[in-house]
Amino acid sequence: MSLNYKGQNLFIDNIQVKGIARKNVTPFYLYSYKKIKDNFETFCNYFKNVNPLVCFSVKSNSNVSILTELGKLGSGADVVSEGELLKALKAKINPKKIVFSGVGKTDSELRLAIKKRVLLINVESESEALLINKISKKMNRVTSIGIRLNPNVDAKTLSKISTGKLDSKFGLLSTNLLKFCKSSRYLKNIKISAISVHIGSQITSVAPYKRTLNAIKKIIKLSKINFDYIDLGGGFGIQYKKKDKKIDIKNYSVLVRKFQKETNCKIIFEPGRYIVGNTGSLISKIVFIKKNGNKYFVILDAGMNDFMRPALYNAKHEIISVSKSKKRINGNIEFVGPICESTDTFLKYKNFPFIKEGEYVTITNVGAYGSTLSSNYNTRPLASEIIIKKGNIKNNSKKTKDC
Ligand SMILES: *Cc1c(COP(=O)(O)O)cnc(C)c1O
Repeated sequence: MSLNYKGQNLFIDNIQVKGIARKNVTPFYLYSYKKIKDNFETFCNYFKNVNPLVCFSVKSNSNVSILTELGKLGSGADVVSEGELLKALKAKINPKKIVFSGVGKTDSELRLAIKKRVLLINVESESEALLINKISKKMNRVTSIGIRLNPNVDAKTLSKISTGKLDSKFGLLSTNLLKFCKSSRYLKNIKISAISVHIGSQITSVAPYKRTLNAIKKIIKLSKINFDYIDLGGGFGIQYKKKDKKIDIKNYSVLVRKFQKETNCKIIFEPGRYIVGNTGSLISKIVFIKKNGNKYFVILDAGMNDFMRPALYNAKHEIISVSKSKKRINGNIEFVGPICESTDTFLKYKNFPFIKEGEYVTITNVGAYGSTLSSNYNTRPLASEIIIKKGNIKNNSKKTKDC
């Protein structure tokens, strides 16, 4: 994270957070451009030998300024809806670097993707391929598609973010995929250019990725198709806490390099969380503090509508003070939001630096699946998003769902 204390005060990239908090309506998301750039470059460096196309997963963070910056660094985009596709195009990402994923793309979404000539549409069912063929025929095009394989691999992550198992709705199981490759040879307006996979998110071990590479190798052999691309998806886990397990990407990159030599395909990755997860904080003001039973409830102005991961996945995100007191509160403390739902709670502590009503705290590592999962529930406005870039503060408060 790019947050650190100088004395008692929290800084992000050398700018004092309290100063930004005082000048803006809380809660708001605060991102470090420097950290986003560092993460993107670190990721690319791991796979230098592979020379992959990195398509940032827009659903993890769809802020157009962030997409624009990533585009300038050479990133493509992995999109899962018409809205995301339009945002990626608005961010001037070349359609030849855009892949379109998703189990249920509609007619209108497919038409836009075909018209814009995106690099790949990753299909997840035979019906979808037939529809793409039909639309492409009308537009007099041949559209490149990838077929998403369900490799039947357990990603060993939270069950709610696992996508590559036998009973999952995603992709095609290998036997169906092979059958489909045969039957679709007669479709003149699609070209099968890729196999794609994405087995889940917040994956912290290389083993499931390794099993996936083996499953793909098998498919390539059996299908006898020369695929141009193998899209290995995203899912790279990050450390939400210091003691969290870290994925050994270096080790994985060696496997991918070997795989690439054997298969002679161009590799695509679709990282989301890894690029932006630890680059964002949610700055929030303490509205009230009250004691119920033997517990202090710290009621924030940020709620589950602003940041949904704790309510949706039981995810734990550390909360830190913007001005850290030397005194501590001992006793049970629970940080909660103002929403009328009992799942609107963030984290519990046994002790915490002393805090008062009106002060600010920050929920950490919310750069991925933070703002993109937010809603207007309770008819609350959406939190704005502020980006720190080279000492400048850029506020992107205009969002379509604002009320
Ligand atoms: C969500 C998603 C990703 C990104 O996953 P991360 O865990 O954020 O890296 C990549 N590809 C597809 C198809 C996805 O649905």
